[in-house]
Amino acid sequence: MAEKVVIIGSGPAGWTAAIYAARANLAPVVYEGDPTYEKNRLQGTAPLGQLNLTTEVENFPGFPAGDLGAYLDNALPDSRRAIMPPHSRHGVSGPELMELMRQQAINFGTRVVSKDVVTVDLSRRPFALTAVNRGADDRVIDGTTEEVEAHALIIATGARANYLGLPSEDRYKNRGVSACAVCDGALPRFRNKPLVVVGGGDSAVEEATYLTKFARPVYMVLRRDAFRASKIMVERALANRRIELKYNRVVDEVLGDDKQGVTAVRLASTKGEGPETVEAAGLFLAIGHTPNTDFLDGQLALTDKGYVRWTTPQRTYTSVEGVFAAGDVADDYYRQAVTAAGTGCMAALDAERWLAGQGHH
Ligand code: NAP
Repeated sequence: MAEKVVIIGSGPAGWTAAIYAARANLAPVVYEGDPTYEKNRLQGTAPLGQLNLTTEVENFPGFPAGDLGAYLDNALPDSRRAIMPPHSRHGVSGPELMELMRQQAINFGTRVVSKDVVTVDLSRRPFALTAVNRGADDRVIDGTTEEVEAHALIIATGARANYLGLPSEDRYKNRGVSACAVCDGALPRFRNKPLVVVGGGDSAVEEATYLTKFARPVYMVLRRDAFRASKIMVERALANRRIELKYNRVVDEVLGDDKQGVTAVRLASTKGEGPETVEAAGLFLAIGHTPNTDFLDGQLALTDKGYVRWTTPQRTYTSVEGVFAAGDVADDYYRQAVTAAGTGCMAALDAERWLAGQGHH
C-alpha cells in the first residue's frame, strides 16, 4: 500500500515536515539517509544534515545559553545520547537540535528509515522510490533495497559543501583535506599544526574559529580583499589572534606525501603577485554548497543554480503536482536552520491540503 507522504531528508526541514505531517495523521515516513555509507560522511550528506556537522547554534529561537544536559537526558533515548557528542552546557548544539527534532517527530508517530533514496519515479501515481544501504565500494548491500510508493513527496535533502576541484585536493581527502572542521578538526594530525581554511563567509569564520581550539595558526584564504561573512563573524575573525588572514589568494595546489598527508598549501595571488607556500597539516574548505538533487535525475525543474524550483510564491509547490520541497535543497538565499524548519512546516501543510483534495485524509 502506498504511503500518504514520504519525506526525504533529515535536517530541520525534514523533521519539521514530519512533526506537522504526523500530527495531521498522515503517518509520514522519513528516509533519513544511510548512516554507515562512508561517502555520505565524506561529502557531508549523512543523516541529520549540515547542522549535525556544526557546534553551538546560537540563532535558533528558543535556546538561550544555558545547560540543557538534564533535558537532553530526559527527552532523548539512551541509545541516541550514546552516539551524540558531549553536551557543552552552552545552549543547544547542531547535533542536539537535530536529535531533539528527530525524537519529536518519532513521538508523534513518524516512521524513520535509515537508507538513502537513490531513485524516484515522478511520472507515475503514486510516486515510486527506491532506497538502499551501500558499502565501502559503493555497491548496494544485498537485501537492503526497499521499494516504496507515496501519494505525496516532500524533498528536504539539503545541500552539501563544495570543494575546489583540484586533483591534489582529491588526492588528500581524508588525509588532511576536509570540508568539516567539526568532524575532523580534533584529529591528532592537526594538533598544534598550522592549517588553512578557504573562504570568507560565515562558515569559513566558524570553521577557522573552531580550528583555533586545536591548531595554530589558522590561515584564512580569501580570494578577494573582503569577507562575505556577517559583521559579527568578521569581528570574531579579526579579534582572534590565532587566525591569520591571506587576502587576494586562492589555493593553487595541495602539497604532501603518502606518509604524512598534507604538509603545505601553495597559494596563488589574484592580484598578480608571486605564489606563496604555507606550511599546513590540513586544508579546510568553506566555499559554499551544492544542493542534493542528483537522485531526482532531472524530473523536477531546478533553478539556474541547481536548486529545486518553488513554482508558486509563498508555497512549497514544485514543477510536479504532489511533490513539495523544503529547506536548503530549494533555498540558496536564506539557508538558515530556522528558515528550513519554517519551509518544512509549510511543505507538510501544503502536502496535507493537496492530499485532502485528492481524497487522502
Ligand atoms: P557563502 O556565504 O556563500 O560564502 C562562500 C565564501 O567562499 C565566500 O567568501 C566566497 O568568496 C568563497 N568562495 C566561493 N567559491 C570559492 C572558490 N572557488 N575559491 C575560493 N573562495 C571561494 O557560504 P557560507 O559561508 O557557507 O554561508 C552560507 C549561508 O549560511 C549564509 O547565508 C550564512 O550566513 C549562513 N551561515 C550562518 C552561520 C552563522 O550565522 N553562524 C554559520 C554558517 C553559515 P566571495 O565572497 O569572493 O564570493
